[in-house]
Amino acid sequence: MENERLRYLSQAGLDRLEWIHDPRCLVCGHPYDGWIEGERICPHCLQIKPAYNRALCAFRARGFARNIIHKIKYQQSPWLIEDLVVAALDDPQFRRHCTGSILVPVPMHHQKKRVRHYNQAERIAQTLMTRAPGCTYLNALIKILPTISQTHLGRAERRTNVAKAFALNPNIKLNLQARYVVVDDVLTTGATLHACAHVLRKAGIKNVDALALAHG
Ligand SMILES: [Zn+2]
Repeated sequence: MENERLRYLSQAGLDRLEWIHDPRCLVCGHPYDGWIEGERICPHCLQIKPAYNRALCAFRARGFARNIIHKIKYQQSPWLIEDLVVAALDDPQFRRHCTGSILVPVPMHHQKKRVRHYNQAERIAQTLMTRAPGCTYLNALIKILPTISQTHLGRAERRTNVAKAFALNPNIKLNLQARYVVVDDVLTTGATLHACAHVLRKAGIKNVDALALAHG
């Protein structure tokens, strides 16, 4: 049966999404296969302590989701974002995580944006804002250094690669009491979301979370 809320993707496609369920790491959202008892913070988060309180992803960046995200990023197909956001918000936990927040996209360096013409994280955050309750959108961050693709880098290299890449947008005003959620398309090691959250924290915001549509 076709889903009328979807504009471009088929329900059969969305049915193939690999949803992330609990148990997962309470900090970075990393999914655990099977059942574990007790502490649910992964060794990685215990070691590096991300700057965000909690990151959440709706589904795994595999199969169907991976193909769609690849099209969004590299094949000039940003219109596919809306259907993926609609699907992600069907997960009550993901929806709750967005609700009432100020959504801050991971910024793209202006040189890269000139080539791609859009920043998929901005489009995701803007679409979430219109569909999740009580959200607003703010370009609170800018990317001041171009970085090389994270794809082939290890955990530590990813962190170094993005460590000084982001800064506060000088043209915006922050509400230090509000809850901010940094938004990206995919979370792999969390290095990018950590670097962005770190800038917001340094600006004095205490309540910083993160989200991505998919966990890589
Ligand atoms: Zn973790």
